[in-house]
Amino acid sequence: MSERGHPAYHARQVLRWIFERRAEGFSGMSDLPKRLREELEEGWDVFSTSIALHHVSPDGTDKLLLECRDGRRVECVLMAEVDRRTVCISTQVGCGMGCVFCASGLKGVERNLTDGEILEQVIRLRNLLPADERLTNLVVMGMGESLANLDNLIGALDRICSPEGLGMSQRRVTISTVGLPDKMRKLAALDRQYHLAVSLHAPTEALRDELVPINAKVGLGAVVDAADAYFRSSGRQVTFEYVLLGGVNDGASEAEALADLLESRKSHVNLIPYNPVPGLPFERPSANSVRRFEGIVRARGISVSVRKTKGREIDAACGQLRRRGEVGQVVPDARAILPAPAGIAGDL
Ligand code: SAH
Repeated sequence: MSERGHPAYHARQVLRWIFERRAEGFSGMSDLPKRLREELEEGWDVFSTSIALHHVSPDGTDKLLLECRDGRRVECVLMAEVDRRTVCISTQVGCGMGCVFCASGLKGVERNLTDGEILEQVIRLRNLLPADERLTNLVVMGMGESLANLDNLIGALDRICSPEGLGMSQRRVTISTVGLPDKMRKLAALDRQYHLAVSLHAPTEALRDELVPINAKVGLGAVVDAADAYFRSSGRQVTFEYVLLGGVNDGASEAEALADLLESRKSHVNLIPYNPVPGLPFERPSANSVRRFEGIVRARGISVSVRKTKGREIDAACGQLRRRGEVGQVVPDARAILPAPAGIAGDL
C-alpha cells in the first residue's frame, strides 16, 4: 500500500477482510476507497491458486485440488467431525523422501510450496465452512516432507496462529515429519508450541531402511533422539505414527520391538491402517492384526490409538487425488506387478 502511495492501514483492512470476513475478491471490501478496490481488482489476486477440483465425500470430507500459477497441483482436505473441524495441508509438490507405500513421493519432489501457497490452502478450506463455524485443528499431513520446507511452513503457521490471522492455537497444530533430526532440532529451537508427529513405521533399523528409504542416511536412533530433544525443549509429547502394512510390519514381533523402543519415553503411538494406493504392492492389515498390535503396545504401558480413515471415497488420503488420471504414467514399475485398476485414468 505504501509503495503505491496509499495509507498503510489499508493493508490491515484488506487482511481483515480475507482472514475474518472470508473475502475472496477486492470489490466487496466496502471500507476501502472505490478507486483502490478497482486498482486491486485489476492488478492483484486474493489467492494465487485456482480450484482444479472440489470433491465432497459422503462422510462430510471436502477435498480441494489446487492449481498453482505454474500449473502444478497440490491437495488439501477439510474433515468435519462432531466437535472438530480439521484441515490437512501440503507443504511440497510431490515428496523427496520416497516412503515405499506412499503415493505422494512416486515422482519425487518438484518444488517447495511458498508460505502463501501453504496459507491459502487453510483459508480456502476455512471458507467452505458455514459462517458460524471455525477451524479447530490443523495437521500438516498432506503432500511433501513438512520439515524439508520448514521456513515457509513456519511462516504460514505463524500467520494462521496469530491474532491478526486466524487466531488458531499453536497447540492445535500438528506437524508430521518423516523424521529429519537436524530440522526437528531447528524446530525445537524456534520455541513454538506446535505438536510434532514423527513417522516411524518400523521399530528396527533394517525394516525402516526398507520402508522409509531416507532412514539409511538418518538412522532410527537419531530420529528418536531428536524426538526426545523436542519433548524436552517444548514440553510437548511427541506422537509416533506407524502405518500398518498387512504382513509387512504388523506382526506381534514388530509390536513388541516398537514397545521396547518407546517404553521408556513419554510418547503416543498413532497406528494408521494402510490406505491402499493403486499400483503399489501393499495390503491393508487385517482387523485382527490391528487389534493385536494395539493390544501389545498398550499392554506395555504406552498410549496408543488407531486412526480412523476419512475421505477414502474421494481419494482424500495420502496424495491420491492428484494421482488420479496420472496413475498410468507414474508407476510403471508397480504396474508391472499389478494391473492398473480400471476406471481411474482420465477423471481430471
Ligand atoms: N512427510 C510427512 C507427512 C506425510 S503424510 C511424514 O512423513 O510424516 C502423513 C502420514 O501419512 C505419514 O505418516 C505417512 O507415512 C502416512 N502415509 C503415507 N501414505 C500412506 C498410505 N498410503 N496409507 C496410510 N498412511 C500413509
